[in-house]
Amino acid sequence: MLTRKFKTSNPTALLTEMPGLGMGAKNLSADIRRHFNCTLGRDRDCRSVHYAYSALALTVRDRLMERWRNTEYAYDQADCRRTYYLSLEFLLGRALSNAMLNLGIEEPIQQALNELGLELEELADSEFDAGLGNGGLGRLAACFIDSCATLQLPVMGYGIRYEYGMFRQMIVNGYQVEEPDHWLRNGHVWEQERPELTVRVKFGGRTEFSNDVSRPGQVVWLDTDDVLAVPFDIPVPGYRNGTVNTLRLWKSAATDEFKLGEFNAGDYAESVRAKNLAENISMVLYPNDASENGKELRLRQQYFLASASLQDVLRRWLADHGEDFSEFAEKNCFQLNDTHPTIAVAELMRLLIDVHGLAWNEAWAITNRTMAYTNHTLLPEALEKWPVRLFRQMLPRLLEIIFEINARFLGEVAARWPGDIDRLARMSLIEEGHEQQVRMAYLAIVGSFSVNGVAALHSDLLKHGLFKDFHELWPERFNNKTNGITPRRWLAACNPELAGLISEAIGDKWTADLTRLAELRPFAEDAAFRERWMAIKRRNKEKLLDFKNRELGLTLVNPDLMFDVQVKRIHEYKRQLLNVLHVIHLFDRIKRGDVQDWTPRCVLFGGKAAPGYVMAKRIIKLINNVAGTINGDPEMNDRLSVLFLPNYRVTAMEVICPGTDLSEQISTAGKEASGTGNMKFMMNGALTIGTLDGANIEIREEVGAENFFLFGLTAEEVERRRGGYDPGAVIEANEDLKRVMGLLESGFFNRFEPGIFDPIIESIRSPHDPWMTAADFPGYVEAQRAAAAAFRDKDRWARMSILNTAASGKFSTDRTIAEYNREIWKLTPIPALPVK
Ligand SMILES: *Cc1c(COP(=O)(O)O)cnc(C)c1O
Repeated sequence: MLTRKFKTSNPTALLTEMPGLGMGAKNLSADIRRHFNCTLGRDRDCRSVHYAYSALALTVRDRLMERWRNTEYAYDQADCRRTYYLSLEFLLGRALSNAMLNLGIEEPIQQALNELGLELEELADSEFDAGLGNGGLGRLAACFIDSCATLQLPVMGYGIRYEYGMFRQMIVNGYQVEEPDHWLRNGHVWEQERPELTVRVKFGGRTEFSNDVSRPGQVVWLDTDDVLAVPFDIPVPGYRNGTVNTLRLWKSAATDEFKLGEFNAGDYAESVRAKNLAENISMVLYPNDASENGKELRLRQQYFLASASLQDVLRRWLADHGEDFSEFAEKNCFQLNDTHPTIAVAELMRLLIDVHGLAWNEAWAITNRTMAYTNHTLLPEALEKWPVRLFRQMLPRLLEIIFEINARFLGEVAARWPGDIDRLARMSLIEEGHEQQVRMAYLAIVGSFSVNGVAALHSDLLKHGLFKDFHELWPERFNNKTNGITPRRWLAACNPELAGLISEAIGDKWTADLTRLAELRPFAEDAAFRERWMAIKRRNKEKLLDFKNRELGLTLVNPDLMFDVQVKRIHEYKRQLLNVLHVIHLFDRIKRGDVQDWTPRCVLFGGKAAPGYVMAKRIIKLINNVAGTINGDPEMNDRLSVLFLPNYRVTAMEVICPGTDLSEQISTAGKEASGTGNMKFMMNGALTIGTLDGANIEIREEVGAENFFLFGLTAEEVERRRGGYDPGAVIEANEDLKRVMGLLESGFFNRFEPGIFDPIIESIRSPHDPWMTAADFPGYVEAQRAAAAAFRDKDRWARMSILNTAASGKFSTDRTIAEYNREIWKLTPIPALPVK
């Protein structure tokens, strides 16, 4: 495969060096035309807008290519320290508008398209979302690599090129139906295959001691079923700085010998099956958010990513430094996005010891100084554990290494706390029980020099709850990095009108330094500015309605209603159910004529449920049934409407957050690690109704309590109340809740489907309800009343809206990444070489 090399070691400079491509409208339109007619081979009979989009995308991509290589040249020349961001998910969304914005060629492109009689929006709309992630964790990875490029940090993303991304959600009779997302169907112009960098990943087989007398004690892993990992690179442009970093996604492929071997044995069908097994690894993204399901293929994906990425880094190291690893830890850092890629800890040990001949202690010192772990969840059911049995069969050598890491680690614990047997059992990387399991989070902590949570409260809860024992042992390892979002995609690109108004008021430096948004504060007192601000919000609400009408079919909603929005994965801890109970309460108020000083509102829901998560899917059905009842009731008369937007995704959020008035962030306190949807809404001028959970706490601190609608138990109160929780008493004591439960329990929303909501009703009434939905209902209703009253005072709302955007500066991933870099990665920014 691609083994023929140049006779001299490199291609000639005459081949590889070229003058910079023009950035003016003339050059751009000529290139669009050339790509359409030559690269893509289309003509006047071409009816599909896809090819016009592709021609435009290729034209933009050409401009990235030259900056991309100049960035790599600069890093290479500097021989700089680098960080690798390992993540099973990158929820990228679309690439075109972001690339145009970051290159700063929006205007000439617009002009070029005018010359060609094309409409940008129509073309941009034909791009598929790259939905290689479930939700917040995957989107965070995408925002992170954007900020790394903007800060000119030598950071490379490593992930998997799933053939099928996050499923497409349809709603049929109120139920979620999943459809496969074959996002690569029409090709993907933003990726560059690099088959010459293919690596080999081992699975299965057995281990034995080497009979090589020069390497006593050396273990070999043999009789393996190997799989090839083929890299596909995606360019990651920084904001107008000439930098283009790399996201490298691995695709799995069968090896040749494995096909031939089986074929020679005469079993043709078996050989094809084996090929499928190899190619299946990168076939599909697991659609489980914040919960794991122990499937063998998932562990295969994790090891595939870890091994391929580490081998790739080591290949570059060997090319530059040979077998001298003395400076490896100074020059390399791996950030693990949750426990998913944690097997990298054991894999780096294996590669250093088995392949490169280092001693255990040397290899451990390197591993322990290069790995850093980010935790994303406090939910115990989401903490990954893998059966030892599965490891032994799939990754026997890795299991041996994990056992040895554990033995040495427990030795350390025993020396520090002699005789404390309980502590050893609690901290062991291996959980005993009817089936032994590997605790991946513990492996990550033991193998890393840094462990971070993703919001202040979350990091605190980790230290004093989930990872208490480890914090006692290594307090210096623990730190916080509050999440963020990239202001390029989540303000400049998705809300161009508001971005324009902001720049008119305070200049345009905010795009690369979001703290400057604070300069907007005085404008909250400027009546003319407020009017323009709210006029833009209103137009964004109209755009949101257009989007909804395209996706959902036409239903009339008035943009003057309060748009009250909860979009995020459907999960019990996020409490969409609490929101539905409030909606039913509003319905009940209208029905009984309690409509004095009513604030008309449209409650929007959106989000996917994991296909196997029965309760979450039932909540979707409840939302849709409640929506059906309310929207079909003439008495509601514009006072209340409810919509479930199917197929929530990045591209949907880009239209939803600019058109939102009220952002619902109502998780049970102590359960949402950070949240980032909350930040997108705030940055676009929505007000938050929320609990003291995750980054909500920091959002409220930044914007001030008077500009935030707070309610609910604190994390401490939730814990204290466990054991003595009596939802029956809460319901009895609250007339509103009693009536809501009465409606639900009478079957009012499921007249022709008896009993379907019983599990939901039972969960609310259960003293063991971990989400304490009933407990927070009264406070929630009160906060909703305050929000409704505030919305009726248009001036006051406009002020608060402006102040929310003005206070959102902290929530840029530029700040988050600067902190990662200052405290964990310690990289030096390296500017790209200039384009000729
Ligand atoms: C931001 C985002 C999320 C995360 O939302 P939370 O409210 O923080 O859970 C999930 N999915 C998509 C598509 C997003 O853009």
